[in-house]
This record gives sequence, structure tokens and C-alpha cells, in this order.
Amino acid sequence: MRKKIRIALAGNPNSGKTSLFNRLTHARQHVGNYPGVTVEKRDGVCVRDGHEIQVTDLPGTYSLTAYSIEEIVARDFIVDEKPDVVVDVLDAANLERNLYLAVQIMELGVPLVLALNMSDVAKARGIEFDLDQLSGLLGAPIVPTVAVSGAGTDALLDAVVSVAGGQTAFATPVFTYGREVDKAITELADAVRTRNGATNGRAPAWLALKLLEGDDKVRERVDAPEVTRLVAEQSVRLERLLGDVPENVIADARYGFIAGACQEAVRSTIESRRNTSDRIDSVVTNRVLGLPIFLGMMYLVFQLTFTLGGPPMGWIEAGFGRLGGAVTGWWPAGSESPLLSLLVDGVIGGVGGVVIFLPNILLLFLAIALLEDSGYMARAAFIMDRLMHKIGLHGKSFIPMLTGFGCSVPAIMATRTLDSERDRLTTILVTPLMSCGARLPIYALIIPAFFPAHLHAPMLWVIYMIGIALAIVAAKCLRSTLFKGEAQPFVMELPPYRMPTLRGVLIHMWERGWLYLKKAGTVILGISIVLWAMTSYPRKVEFDLDYDTAIARLEEQGATDEAESLAQARQAEALAYTVAGRVGQGLEAVLRPLGFDWRIGTALIGAFAAKEVFVAQLGIVYAVGEADEESDALRDRLRENYSPLVAFCIMLFCLISAPCMATIAVTKRETNSWKWALFQLGGLTVLAYLVTLVVYQLGSLLGIGVA
Ligand code: GDP
Ligand code: MG
Repeated sequence: MRKKIRIALAGNPNSGKTSLFNRLTHARQHVGNYPGVTVEKRDGVCVRDGHEIQVTDLPGTYSLTAYSIEEIVARDFIVDEKPDVVVDVLDAANLERNLYLAVQIMELGVPLVLALNMSDVAKARGIEFDLDQLSGLLGAPIVPTVAVSGAGTDALLDAVVSVAGGQTAFATPVFTYGREVDKAITELADAVRTRNGATNGRAPAWLALKLLEGDDKVRERVDAPEVTRLVAEQSVRLERLLGDVPENVIADARYGFIAGACQEAVRSTIESRRNTSDRIDSVVTNRVLGLPIFLGMMYLVFQLTFTLGGPPMGWIEAGFGRLGGAVTGWWPAGSESPLLSLLVDGVIGGVGGVVIFLPNILLLFLAIALLEDSGYMARAAFIMDRLMHKIGLHGKSFIPMLTGFGCSVPAIMATRTLDSERDRLTTILVTPLMSCGARLPIYALIIPAFFPAHLHAPMLWVIYMIGIALAIVAAKCLRSTLFKGEAQPFVMELPPYRMPTLRGVLIHMWERGWLYLKKAGTVILGISIVLWAMTSYPRKVEFDLDYDTAIARLEEQGATDEAESLAQARQAEALAYTVAGRVGQGLEAVLRPLGFDWRIGTALIGAFAAKEVFVAQLGIVYAVGEADEESDALRDRLRENYSPLVAFCIMLFCLISAPCMATIAVTKRETNSWKWALFQLGGLTVLAYLVTLVVYQLGSLLGIGVA
């Protein structure tokens, strides 16, 4: 008996579908598009034992939900075109992950053959399969193949012919979603069945399953009020009983079934390597321990940043101090030359103030590079996925968000890996809340000035955690209002742990450090000069008081403290007269409720150009007018002028408020809309203002940190 057989190749991206397709069909193929969408469709023909076999290469997918065009195309093809056999191409080296799709094809109840592709790779890695057992558990024939060499393809075609001809009975595997879910499916399937015509030839049980999973496409298709009502009822009932939405329970059941099947039928002969990775994973991705371990890791990173960073920062600071002294020496003592002030207060004060924090930056990125290269960051994303799912985001969103610890610009660009537009926009908008490297100098300046040494790392940790927490809350709000919709399931490969190479880590660290220095030498230098000018001009010549005489008299009387405070009063009066002073005073009415004075106001404006400028500007403000004196370290000046509560509020405001110009620009580019860029700018500024306002007012009321 010879006949035409139509088969469809399904499989995860990179499982070797296209290679297998090319192997089977050689040149006899046709490339077009699936109707109505831009997804590529390849058709071809091959012959086996006189049977003409028509092959269609489906788009690569990890799942068969309705979340991406690819998944919808693949499953509509299987359901509507009803190929005689579906061949699921599995990557044998990543079998567990690949079986997630296989299980969903099984749920469709279509004739299935499994191609265990990449079997050469699996073999090289020492993975062995008990094919009979696996085939029995999964209810479909399994044929090992190597698509690139063609090994196993004949056997695969034989299996296809046999299944298509009905010679191989394919059994639907018995696997359960748990008693309660199974019951709900049966009940729903009955309701669907009684709706004649609604099923369009789809199996009622499958429709019921999809409805429970909250599948939009199926809901649209079934479109029957009584069914919709029943689905809602059952979902509420299941969620109450099982403590999670049916979608997650169903996914867990699939994973559980797969894990069980693999435990039975897959063995790794290279025990030690797998075991070490697995053993580490069983601890660090543990349901209970995972999150505390992640938080602990971050804490260690910050501890390292501060403790090791201290001494080299001292050296750099001393170096800039000497440089300032040397430059001052070029002018006669007591000179009021504007050029001297520009060099010492503007350039050295501004740029030097930023460069001092280079050791912190290097150490932070050293630690992040170590975590990334060792494979831990992928675990962090995995751990966070559970949380991310609760807020309606994909676990993949956490990777760009982690990148945001470095800089929001590449982080926002990294959101391109997200398939769903809703996830992507949400992630872009909240990513600036992940505290970027440019904000670190602000914390590194302020924390040691106001808090005792044993609180340094905890304070920094708290600031970062506030950022993460706010990002999560903001994402949740966005996902339940502007970007309402279902969350995509998360399938991610955990790479094996690797020993990071010294070279790789150092390169990564140096790249970040170099970027930072370059920024200090260009953008920040330029802005520092502008800010210096704004802080120096117009010059006040007529003071309210004859300070010189008054100070001289006080010094004669030995009242040095009073003399000092008078000198400061003169400086404040002079500063208030300058452009920066006036702008700051204009802002003061708005910023006063946050505990900020006009100096912080001017620094905040500079910070919008680049966050580090905040530090540079404070350096300038507090240096101008006293370059000829023994100038106190900036931290001492800050301590004299602000309370710890205000210091904390400054950090909080800088963390949350409008990201820098570059971030806004990249948001505009990536969303292709000014609307979202301005929304991000405005939203974060308002959020920063409100949060800081509440913290400052509450703190003042309760008297926390006001001394
Ligand atoms: P698709 O995304 O599923 O279409 O996968 P491709 O056919 O494009 O294959 C992805 C990569 O895996 C390509 O580099 C192939 O050369 C390679 N590849 C495919 N099948 C095998 C195989 O059986 N063994 C090995 N070693 N490599 C394979
Ligand atoms: Mg392909």
C-alpha cells in the first residue's frame, strides 16, 4: 500500500529541525510564509519505500501556548492542517527542557514520532537513554538521529510510515495534572462538547485544558458564555484549593511528569560533573533557600565593594589633593584668579570627586563578572522567576534588570530578548530602578559620611534592595493596568557552573572601569566646568556685612569657631547670588519638604545629565570660595550641613528619580515612542518625590536620624 503522508517537524529552536528538514528533503523544498504572518514556512518532499512524504518545517517553539506568533502558527498548523504524523525534534543533550513541547503535542492527541536528535552530542557528554522505557512512558516511538550526518533518518522515516499506516499503535500516555485539575478538565470538556460546532474539530479535553490555562485564542474560539463562566468558577475553585493559578499547576504537572520520565530512562555516565552542578543547584535554587542565598550574595558583593575599596580610594583622594596643592602653588598665595578656581574647584573638584570612586566601580563589576561567568546569574534569574511570575513578568525579564545594576542603557537594549511586547515595555520602564553603577559614587560618598563602618554594607544593600522592590511593585502595577495580560511560562536552560577565567573577569572589570574613566574625562569634565561657572558667577562683591573686618576681629579675640561660621555665612551668601544658587533657590520651595536645600537642588539638575555629576557638583559647591584655606574633606562638610535622615533621602531620591538623559534616549529609541520615554521620565520623578517625601516627613516626625 503506497500513499501520500503529510508530516510536520516541530521542536525547540536550535534542536536541529531545519538540518533534519534539509537532510530529508534535499533540494526539493519550497520556502514561503504562513498565511497572514511573517513567519517563514518551508515545505519539501521525500520518498521512503515508495511513500511520498510531504514535510513541513514548523517554527521553533518551546511551548504551545498562545503567547507568541510562532507558537500559534505551530499549533494551528497541527490542529487545523492535521498532518498524518507530527515529528517532534528533540535536542538529546537537553532532553528535559525539550520534552516540555513534546508533552504539549501529546496533549493534542495527534500521532507523534520523537526524533532524538543531537544524539552524537548527548553521547559525547556521556548521556545514555533507555529508549524502550522512554518510548513506553511517552507513548510514542523514539528514533535517535544526527541531523547533520543523516544518521538515523531512514529509521525515523520508517517509524513515520509505520505510525501513519496505523501499524504502530501510539498510546496516549497516562499522566495526570492532579485529581482536582483532571476533574475540572473532564467537567469542562463535557460543557464544551455540548456546544456543537464550537470545537472546530479540536479535542474537547484539549480545549478544556487550554481554557483552564487561560489561553486567549481558545477562549475567543469557544466563545460561549456558559463555558466561560464555568472556566472562571473552576479557576477560582482550583486556585483556592491548590494555592496557585491553574496555569502554573498544569505547568508543574508537566514538569513533574518529565522529570519522572527522565529519572527513569536517562542516565549520565559522567556522574561527577553533573553531580557537582546539580548538588550546587539543589542548594542555590532551592525553593526556600534560593532567595536568601541570592540576597546574601548581593550583600557580600557590597561588603567587598566597600572594604577593599577603602584604601585605594584614599590614595586617589590624596593624589588629587596633592595635584590641587601643586596647581595652587603656581599662583601667588591668596590669589583670587578665576583660572585657578576653575582648575582647582571646577576640574579637580568635579572630575576628581568622581574618579575617586573608580575602585568601587571596579570591585562591583569584578564581583558581578564573577557571578555571571560562573553561571550563578542564570540561577538568580531562575530563582527570581517565581517572584517575577507573581508580578506577571517573564523570568527572562530579570536578566536585563540585572544588567541594570551596571547601566540602564545596555539593560534596556537587552529587553529585546523578550518575546512579549507587554513584558518588554514593562521591563524597559522599570529597569532604571535597578541601581546603576553611576549612582554608586553617590552612595559611596554619602554612606561613610553619615553611618558607622559596620553599617556601610548594610546601608548599600538596603538601597539596592529598595530599588529592586520598587521595580517589582512598579512592574506589578504596570502589568495589572497599562499592560494587562497573561504571563508567559518560563523555560530557561541553566548552563553548567564554570570556573570563571581570570582573563574574562579582568577584561569585563576593566571595560567598565575604562568606560567610567572616559565618562569622567569627557561628559563629566564638561558638565563640571559648566556647573563651576554656574556656581561662581555672577560674583557678589557687595556683601550684607563687612565679613573681612568682622572675621579679623573675631580671630583677634580668639573666637575661631565664630570666625569660621562667619566665613561660611559669607560663602553661602556668595553662592546664593550665583546662577546655580538662584536656580537652586527656585527649586527650594519644591525640595524643602524632602529636606533638601538649594545646593542639593543644583546637584540634582546636574545628575540628570549623568548621575555621577551629583557628586561632582557637591564637590564644587563645597569647595568654591575656600580653595585657599585648608579645605575640609567633602564628607565632613556634608556631615556639618545635613542629618543622616537627609542623607538617606538624598540616596533614595537619586535611586528612584529620573534616570539620566542617555536612558531616556535609549527608551525612546527602543520603544520608538516619545510617549513612553516621557512617561518613564515623569513617572519615576513623581515616584521619587513621593517616596522621599513620605520617608523624610515620617523620619522627622518620629525623630529618626535627625540629630
Ligand atoms: P533549528 O533551529 O531547529 O532549525 O536548528 P538547526 O537545524 O538550524 O540546527 C542548529 C544547529 O545545530 C546547527 O548549527 C546544526 O548544524 C546543528 N545540528 C543540528 N542537528 C545536529 C546533530 O544531530 N548533531 C550535531 N552535532 N549538530 C547538529
Ligand atoms: Mg530552523
